[in-house]
Amino acid sequence: MPLPEFSYFRPKTIEGLVSLLAGHGADAKILAGGTDLFVLMRDRLVRPKCVIDIKGIEELRELSWDKGRGLMIGAAVTLNELIGSEIVEQRFGALWKAASVLADPTIRNRATLVGNICNASPAADTAPALLVLDGGVEVVGARGERTIPIRDFFVGVKRTTLERGEFVRGVRIPNPPEGAKSDYLKWGRTRGEDLAVVGVAALAADSGKKFVRVALSSVAPTPLLISEVEDIFRGEGSIEERIEKAASVVVQRISPISDVRASREYRLHMAGVLTRRVLRQLLGVS
Ligand SMILES: Cc1cc2nc3c(=O)[nH]c(=O)nc-3n(C[C@H](O)[C@H](O)[C@H](O)COP(=O)(O)OP(=O)(O)OC[C@H]3O[C@@H](n4cnc5c(N)ncnc54)[C@H](O)[C@@H]3O)c2cc1C
Repeated sequence: MPLPEFSYFRPKTIEGLVSLLAGHGADAKILAGGTDLFVLMRDRLVRPKCVIDIKGIEELRELSWDKGRGLMIGAAVTLNELIGSEIVEQRFGALWKAASVLADPTIRNRATLVGNICNASPAADTAPALLVLDGGVEVVGARGERTIPIRDFFVGVKRTTLERGEFVRGVRIPNPPEGAKSDYLKWGRTRGEDLAVVGVAALAADSGKKFVRVALSSVAPTPLLISEVEDIFRGEGSIEERIEKAASVVVQRISPISDVRASREYRLHMAGVLTRRVLRQLLGVS
């Protein structure tokens, strides 16, 4: 089916983008890679009169790292560019892994991390990684700039706390605690291309005290950080006991649905299995 008609704009500056968004209001949609947007337009699920392509804005192509400020990923950075970064691979393992298992190389050549979170699918692969890495979503609008912690960004299926006229300039991720490791395990029906049946990201650091975070995709209306896991690892008990407790809290906190990919029961089971698996691996339990 052909796409419905729309006007196309390609601003060169952030100021140009802000004024286009202010001028077109609810009729406008931002285009990054288009791998979600054009599917939605083809299926007539969204009908923007105006599409604003942000790939011509040089400032949004920033992918940089700084010892003090951490990692900055601009809104026009593709997933393949992210995967190609040694810093991302070495220091932000969960994010590198999530980007590497999202769709396939051709999609990743166009798709962006920011498009993945703005689309706000419960199955967004990069979201659990950003949740355990505590990313901040940098937002610009006619009224100025603000940062939304990623844990406050998702509010429902395909819904975020972005307001009309606002766009995401990029995501900033602080440097993880010294010695921290993180990973993302995606469980799907096939390798590649398919959305996750369940995805689990975790971050673990051990500098005398243990610090652990766990977040999941495809198990609730939004990607979910399970905040109780941090308390479990601050508390007493053997590592084995705490991993078991964390897995059982995860299963209690999630509310998966049955759909074409898997039943609710299977998702509940696999969320526990993957939580145990990723925590054992990161905490060095054989
Ligand atoms: C075959 C196929 C397989 C896929 N597999 C997966 C998968 O395994 N896992 C997964 O998570 N996803 C998957 N996807 C979905 C998609 O590829 C990702 O969500 C991708 O990261 C979207 O990025 P994009 O740059 O293409 O976003 P776009 O399609 O350009 O935009 C997505 C949405 O975000 C908005 N948007 C984009 N940038 C901004 C911004 N800077 N500020 C505000 N709003 C913005 C757009 O208006 C649109 O509503 C798949 C898609 C296809 C077609």
